[in-house]
Amino acid sequence: MRLLTESDILNALNLVIDPDFNRGITELGFVQNLKIKNYESEISVAFDLVLTTPTCPVKDEFIIKCKQILSDIGVAKTDIKLSFSSGETASAKEEKQLPSLLKNVKKIIAIASGKGGVGKSTITANLAMAAALNGKSVGVLDADLYGPSMGLMFGITESPEINSDKTLNPIISHGVKVASAAMLFPPEQAIVWRGPRASAMIKNLLNFVHWDSLDYLFIDFPPGTGDIQLSIIQGCELSGAILVSTPQNVALADCIKGHSLFAETKVPVLGLIENMSYFICDKCEKEHYIFGQSGGKKLAETLKIPLLGQIPIETSTMQGAENGLPAVLSCPNSKSSAEFNKIIDTIVALPEG
Ligand code: ADP
Repeated sequence: MRLLTESDILNALNLVIDPDFNRGITELGFVQNLKIKNYESEISVAFDLVLTTPTCPVKDEFIIKCKQILSDIGVAKTDIKLSFSSGETASAKEEKQLPSLLKNVKKIIAIASGKGGVGKSTITANLAMAAALNGKSVGVLDADLYGPSMGLMFGITESPEINSDKTLNPIISHGVKVASAAMLFPPEQAIVWRGPRASAMIKNLLNFVHWDSLDYLFIDFPPGTGDIQLSIIQGCELSGAILVSTPQNVALADCIKGHSLFAETKVPVLGLIENMSYFICDKCEKEHYIFGQSGGKKLAETLKIPLLGQIPIETSTMQGAENGLPAVLSCPNSKSSAEFNKIIDTIVALPEG
């Protein structure tokens, strides 16, 4: 009988891949308190499988795979004790306190929209950049699992390091700390985010990113008002939410749903940003209201929330997003940049708490 060492077991278990982090469970530090007994002709192994969340949708699958892999290398008996980060029971952990890695973040602001394509991510990137240029320490959490774009908008191509305690260090670009689920996967790997898996990833992002101290953390919400949005609201303490819409009725109607979600969950809505408000023709210098005029203004009045700004359609804003240089940085004299800076001044002037 060949004796099995600790590294034989850990290497074998590392073949069990966590689909959310796309890394082996040993590397992720999930295998703890490993005990091996090489007795006569029988090898038995016991360890704790410490997962990040009790709602991990693949925990049963992990156990089956671990047992199979160990059996393949000659382990006769495997005893796996499942626990969650701090060893609490599933139900106790569910009623969790707020993530400790967010405790030094002064304000967490959601940037949300009822539908996709209205420029929510572009606005998140520019507000974050404008706040950083204003001397604030700023982070951006890309929670838009269905269309993550913060990596592109901040020109980030590398993956963050995973620390031995399972925390991630955000990537710093132009002085802004950025973390996104997309950074954990190769770009060609298509990920289907369904209910529990999506919620688990959101929880990981909220619980395991090392922001240190920040003045502002902007969260780029996924569009819509479903379970993922609710998971984020329940998983951290939002100081407020900013709604983004284009001026046409179809976008505004969805924006009302977004407003209801925050109102129902008692998150203060700081205001509405109307994006793609108008286009200035470089030939005639006239403002063209391609998507209709004043839709955002009227909606803000109806919802009794401030209209924080009206961002025109500008090529420099689009190019900034494409080139990883938010417009406030790459084109500081544009109309959009002036609006972004004005909005940040308003946010900075809000009372503490
Ligand atoms: P969302 O996050 O709402 O899905 P994005 O921020 O990804 O939307 O924007 C969708 C597209 O519109 C992107 O190509 C972006 O560059 C472009 N865009 C957004 N806002 C503007 C704007 N004000 N002017 C020009 N292009 C814009």
